[in-house]
Amino acid sequence: MLWRRFLCSALSVMTGPRPVVLSGPSGAGKSTLLKKLLKDYENVFGFSVSHTTRQPRPGEVDGKDYHFVTREAMRKEIDAGGFIEHAEFSGNMYGTSKAAVQAVQAQNQICILDIDMQGVKNIKKTDLNPIYISIQAPSIEVLEKRLRDRKTETEESLQKRLNTACIDMELSKEPGLFDMIIINDDVEEAYLALKNALAEEIQKTQGLRKS
Ligand code: 5GP
Repeated sequence: MLWRRFLCSALSVMTGPRPVVLSGPSGAGKSTLLKKLLKDYENVFGFSVSHTTRQPRPGEVDGKDYHFVTREAMRKEIDAGGFIEHAEFSGNMYGTSKAAVQAVQAQNQICILDIDMQGVKNIKKTDLNPIYISIQAPSIEVLEKRLRDRKTETEESLQKRLNTACIDMELSKEPGLFDMIIINDDVEEAYLALKNALAEEIQKTQGLRKS
C-alpha cells in the first residue's frame, strides 16, 4: 500500500535502518555469511570496520577487514571517546569506533557489526538498538576442526579461542540476549535463516532507496 510505504520511508529517514550485530565464535562461519550478505545486497548493507591490535592474517586488508593498529594508538582513541565499545579478546584488543558506524549510516545502509560477547553486552548499554543475531557452530568439536583446518592460529591461541567459545556458547542462551540464534551446520541453510531474519529490514531499506 502506498501510504504504508510512504510512512515506512518517512520513519526510516528519521531513524535510519536498524544496525545488525552478528556475534559468535570465530570458526562459526560469521565472516562467510557476512560476505555473502554484502555481495548479494551491495547497497543495502555496510560493514562496520573494527579496530584491532592483532596481526593481519594472510589476505586480510587494512581498512577493509579491520583497522590494524597498535595498542597505544587504540588506547589513545578510546580515551578520546572515539569508541562505542571495545573488548580484550584472546590477548588482543578489538573495538567499534563511532566513525566506523557513522560511515555506514551516512550511506543509509544497514550497518553490520561483527563483535564478540563482551561487545554485545556493551552495545546493549548504548542507544544503537540493533538486531542481535548469534551464529554458532553445531558443536565445539566442529568448531575445533574448522579452526584447525583454517590454519590461522597457534596451538595456544586456538585453545584460548575454544575456551572462550565454550563459555560464550552457554552465555548466548541467556533469554532475551539475542533476537535469533542460527546454528551454522550447512552454510546455505544458515544464510537463508539469516536473510529471513533480516527480510523486513532489507525490504525497508530497499524501499527507502527506490523512493
Ligand atoms: P578475529 O580475530 O577472529 O577476527 O576476531 C575475534 C573475535 O573478535 C570475534 O569474535 C569477532 O567477532 C570479535 N570482534 C571483531 N571486531 C570486534 C569489535 O570491534 N568489538 C568486539 N567487541 N569484538 C570484535
